[in-house]
Amino acid sequence: MVDWETLRSACEACHRCPLGQTRTNLVFGVGNPEAEILFVGEGPGEQEDLKGEPFVGKAGILLDKMLACIGLSRQENVYIANIVKCRPPHNRDPLPEERFSCLPYLREQTKLIRPKIIVCLGKVAATTLIDPSFSIMRSHGVWYERKGFWMIATFHPAALLRNEGLKRDAYADLLRIRAKYEELTSDSKKEPPAETDG
Ligand code: SF4
Repeated sequence: MVDWETLRSACEACHRCPLGQTRTNLVFGVGNPEAEILFVGEGPGEQEDLKGEPFVGKAGILLDKMLACIGLSRQENVYIANIVKCRPPHNRDPLPEERFSCLPYLREQTKLIRPKIIVCLGKVAATTLIDPSFSIMRSHGVWYERKGFWMIATFHPAALLRNEGLKRDAYADLLRIRAKYEELTSDSKKEPPAETDG
């Protein structure tokens, strides 16, 4: 297994797909490298490409608010990455061949982080990581257990900015994520039973 530094260097030098030709900055990922929850979006937009960090700009501010409302933050207890690490031109969805060229890097990040929960933000992440025929409208908020991870999809923050009516469902999904997080982390936090006399 590669270490973080080697992985980042490999990504920075990467031209496996054409997105490497047009990026300003690689958008590797951000957050706690030992997080229990990994959030995955689709790919960098204009602001992310300029700053080299995922989820900045309006969608990023909303994502930070969503995390805060369930006691999470990119500074403390989650890691945030994307399916592709370089910006698709004009913010189009990454093409299937671009996703699959980049996916091995996300897999290596996942091996290093070893999260318990993976949250797909939007259709591109869900169709790439959970099921190619995944429908966000039908199946958001549903848990899937895959290869030792609990996986769930919810709406991409950019979709919530376009359609306020989705926010209620997104909030319900966030509560499910918080509940699963507590369920999965409570065992490891439990103290061993106290010894009693007799
Ligand atoms: S998007 Fe991924 S695979 Fe394509 S050039 Fe960038 S780092 Fe390489």
